[in-house]
Amino acid sequence: MNKYKNIKRRKSNRIYVGDVPIGNGAPISVQSMTNTQTTNIEETIKQIIKLKKVGVDIVRISIPTLEAAESFKIIKANVEVPLIADIHFDYRLAIKSIKYGADCLRINPGNIGNKRRISEIVDCAKDKNIPIRIGVNAGSLENDILKKYKSPIPEALVESAIRHIEYLDALNFNQFKVSIKTSDVFSGVKANKILAKKITQPIHIGITESGALRNGIVKSSIGIASMLLAGIGDTLRISLAADPVEEVKVGYDILKTLGIRFRGVNFIACPTCSRQEFDVINVVNQLEKNLEDLSTPMDVSIIGCIVNGIGEAKVSTLGIVGGSKKSALYKDGIRQKNKLKNEEIVKELEIQIRKKAKFLDKLKKNNI
Ligand code: SF4
Repeated sequence: MNKYKNIKRRKSNRIYVGDVPIGNGAPISVQSMTNTQTTNIEETIKQIIKLKKVGVDIVRISIPTLEAAESFKIIKANVEVPLIADIHFDYRLAIKSIKYGADCLRINPGNIGNKRRISEIVDCAKDKNIPIRIGVNAGSLENDILKKYKSPIPEALVESAIRHIEYLDALNFNQFKVSIKTSDVFSGVKANKILAKKITQPIHIGITESGALRNGIVKSSIGIASMLLAGIGDTLRISLAADPVEEVKVGYDILKTLGIRFRGVNFIACPTCSRQEFDVINVVNQLEKNLEDLSTPMDVSIIGCIVNGIGEAKVSTLGIVGGSKKSALYKDGIRQKNKLKNEEIVKELEIQIRKKAKFLDKLKKNNI
């Protein structure tokens, strides 16, 4: 382990969403949320299967109506990923979702209305042994708190979270995690830092409404990395106005970059210039797409020429160093006799990567 990547994580309680552990040293789980109509059962199931293929650990589904709750029942029976039912205001939807097999509820107790209804939900959750996520969002802060603080500043967000937590505390329920999300990186990070000192529950992190793909990735990476580097975060979701599959990929890329959790190939590719001997950008893009399903971690360097190629290939699991017409292949830092024809790099390297993955999986399975 690179000593510079040694992040000291905040200690927290452990909860389980289905069979996924959260908190107390568990791997940081990657979540996403479906953006189909929940009542469109077929499309929702298809999307969850796609998310599973790229490694999602947990999927959240919004349940805005009773009809959606009925659809949730069928969806739940047809997917293997733990599901969180996202509920606002209507306690009946929460109760139905729990009965239909939700692995966790995302709910803000204070929004449910009277205490009897909150207590009914909590009794149901206790009965089925499922946790709750309290999710405070800067865009939907309670009016009285907003009035007190004038705007959704970090202290206001934390006060809202503590208020919701107190509802659960009063009912002796401690199987919950908390999130505070803002679209502004600075206030989101600060709010989570304050919250982390006040509670012992796991924290779900993310930057909400972060924007379309490029902008959203930049904001999320800066915000989430700032929290992770401070040891905060037990599960995360990247919120993008884009295909949720991208959210999962970006989530893993952030964890990979920080040396926290590894999944799939970590491509090291040069930015290219007129020295490149093959079309690096095209090769990397194609391989990234073709290998989406691969979960075995490994570093693969794809570099257009010898300037930086040899150095990178020597420290990668597999490496390509661009050459005229044919490029050199490195395995575990060692240059192989047979070169790859430049027009066959995608095909040949994919074969090599899959072969290596099989080998590494076998070693892992046998604890070698
Ligand atoms: Fe250009 Fe070679 Fe550097 Fe790639 S490694 S950017 S091809 S000089």
